[in-house]
Amino acid sequence: TSPKPAAAKPGKLVVAGITISHPDKVLWPAHDGADPITKADLVAYYETVAERLLPHVADRPTSIIRAPEGIEGEQFFQRHAMPGSNPRLKLIDVHERKPYVAVVDVGGLVAIGQSGGLELHPWGCAPGDPETPEQITFDLDPDVGLDFADVISAAKVVKAKLETLGLNPFVKTTGGKGLHVVVPIKSDARSAVTWEQNKAFAKAVSEAMRVEAPDRFTTTLAKKARGGKIFLDYLRNGRMATAVAPWSPRARPGAGIAFPLNWGQVKAGLDPKAFNIRTAPALLKKADPWKDFRDGAVSLQPALKKMGL
Ligand code: ATP
Ligand code: MN
Ligand code: MN
Repeated sequence: TSPKPAAAKPGKLVVAGITISHPDKVLWPAHDGADPITKADLVAYYETVAERLLPHVADRPTSIIRAPEGIEGEQFFQRHAMPGSNPRLKLIDVHERKPYVAVVDVGGLVAIGQSGGLELHPWGCAPGDPETPEQITFDLDPDVGLDFADVISAAKVVKAKLETLGLNPFVKTTGGKGLHVVVPIKSDARSAVTWEQNKAFAKAVSEAMRVEAPDRFTTTLAKKARGGKIFLDYLRNGRMATAVAPWSPRARPGAGIAFPLNWGQVKAGLDPKAFNIRTAPALLKKADPWKDFRDGAVSLQPALKKMGL
C-alpha cells in the first residue's frame, strides 16, 4: 500500500497540496439520469486537465465564476483577491483600483475548485503581459430557435473568411449554445498589435461577414435585432474583455466544458453536451486538437492592412 500524503487526516481530502473542505458538496445536481457532481469531482477534474487547461489561462488576469453552493445557488464573478480566496493565485497589476487574480499552476486550479470556482474567463492577452493581445475570439451567439447546425455552418463561414486573411482559426465549444472561433496572433515586438487594433479588426471582419450574408449574421448586440440570425459577438476582444477558457467547466446544468475541437469535428452530429466533466477522462485520451495553437500564431499586421486598418 502506498503511504498517504502527510497532510491527509482521516476524512480529509488533499489534492495538489490543497485541503478540500466539504468534498461531498453537490455542485451540479443529478442531470438527465447522470450522477451529481461534487466538489471532490470538480477538483479531481481540475487536477486531471491542468496540463491542457493551463496553457490557455496561466498568467492572464482571469474572472472566475464562483458558485460555492452549486449551480442552483448564488453565482458571482471574482476578479480580485477576496477573503477565502487563496495564496495559490497570483495578483497582476493592470493599473486599476485593485490587482486582478491569475492562475499559475495546478495548485491554483484546485484552490479555485476548493472555493467553488466553476468557470475560468481569462483575458485574451499574452501570459504575463496584460497590454498585449494574443488571440482574437469570434463568439458566435445563435438567436433562440436556431439549430446547432446553423452555428456549425456559420463557424465554417468565419473560418473561411479568416483563412482568406492569412490567419489560422481554431474552434471550440463553449459548454453553452454557441461556438468560439479563436485566432492565435503573434505577440512579439515586430507583430504585436494594440488592444484598439485587435478590437477594431474583430469588428471590421464581423461587419464584413454581415454585409456578405445579412440574412445569416447580425453584429447588433440587442437580442431583439437577432431575428433568426447568428450574432457575431466581436466584443470579446478589447482590453479586459474575456472569453471562457478551453477546458473550463460551465456553471450550467449538465456540467458541460468548453472544449477544443478540430475542424473535422465541426459537422452534422456534433453535440456540445458530449463534452462535460463526466466524459473528460475519455476525452483526455485523445490527441489535443489545439496542440499547435501557439505555433499556429501569425502576425495580425498583414490582415489589418487587408482590412484597411
Ligand atoms: P454561449 O455559447 O452559450 O454563448 P459563451 O461563453 O460564449 O456561451 P456569452 O454570453 O456569449 O457566453 O459570453 C461570451 C464571453 O463573454 C463569456 O465566455 C465571458 O467570458 C464573457 N462574458 C459574458 N457575459 C459577461 C458578464 N456579464 N461579465 C463579464 N464577462 C462576461
Ligand atoms: Mn457566446
Ligand atoms: Mn456573446
